[in-house]
Amino acid sequence: MTIRDLARLASAVENGAPEALERIAALPPGEGLIIGITGPPGAGKSSLVDGLTAEFRQRGKTVAIIAVDPTSRVTHGAILGDRIRMQRHHADAGVFIRSMATRGASGGLARTSAALSRLFRAAGFDFIIIETVGVGQDEIEIASLADVTVVVLVPGMGDDVQAIKAGIMEIADIFVINKADRPGAQQTQREIQAMLSLGHGAVVPVILRTVAIDGTGVPELADELQTRQRRLHLQPEQSWKVDHLGIAVRSLDEALPFYETSLGLPVLSRETVEHEKVKVAMLPAGEARVELLEPLDASSTIARFLEKRGPGLHHVAMKVPDLPATVSRLESAGVRLLGKPQRGAGGHLYVFIHPASTGGVLWELIQE
Ligand code: ZN
Repeated sequence: MTIRDLARLASAVENGAPEALERIAALPPGEGLIIGITGPPGAGKSSLVDGLTAEFRQRGKTVAIIAVDPTSRVTHGAILGDRIRMQRHHADAGVFIRSMATRGASGGLARTSAALSRLFRAAGFDFIIIETVGVGQDEIEIASLADVTVVVLVPGMGDDVQAIKAGIMEIADIFVINKADRPGAQQTQREIQAMLSLGHGAVVPVILRTVAIDGTGVPELADELQTRQRRLHLQPEQSWKVDHLGIAVRSLDEALPFYETSLGLPVLSRETVEHEKVKVAMLPAGEARVELLEPLDASSTIARFLEKRGPGLHHVAMKVPDLPATVSRLESAGVRLLGKPQRGAGGHLYVFIHPASTGGVLWELIQE
């Protein structure tokens, strides 16, 4: 989709053309994160959107911005003043900005914002930011369309936090205390925390502090949003199962009494794997197993592990339904594998992931 097509389709959506809405509904969904940014006038939302956009661009991400002004509570001069800063992004093809300064129309705005954000997501933007100007019912409705809603507050709001809490409580995923260099930031944070402790949501919103005007805290907000974008489209690997935990010991005979007698896990099999120079004892534990590994001689990798790190957890093995597919996904993500998948005992295909990629633990993946 060219920028010109995008602009034309966006205009058609804003004009309520039914065929535009149909076209958008038929587009592939895309993987971008829709971010709603709301909060009272004067909280510095536009500066924050501006800083966030610059930060995402530095990270090579594309950004579409929908600036919504459903009411005329703030003078247009002020809004334009704030949004004038966004001008610097206009020449950047990785940023697409759409302003919806409507004249009192209500209700339809939420629908239009939803359609526009779907359009921008389908067009491949990594982040779609919907920025509203206030915290009225319209704004809350618009912000709640988003995958993630950021509520921007400023220190010293006092009763305002109380006043706006009702609607915001339900939609906020992230609170940003902007202008946090002003006195009272700590107090505002405490007020938000107190408010949250009364709520009963399963997921506790994050509270961050920024000074949007000089960029303080903006990278941390970008990190948080990027994490959420990654998570949004992750399919939980429900088909994976722990197969066994590999534990390096100096001597099977010395280690086994604890496992067999104290834990009550009887040995299912003992074998010597010559080519890996280990003696192995397998102990079933629930649906998984414990694999105790004793080195045959000093050239065994287990012997080297014991020398370096001492006895302990050597590897974690997971059973996966489609090992070749998993391996190619890991490789394209730059994960370090130890060699190619190979056939082990029982003919099972397996591969190891280097601890450098996993946070320090050797991972074994086994074809189910
Ligand atoms: Zn193993």
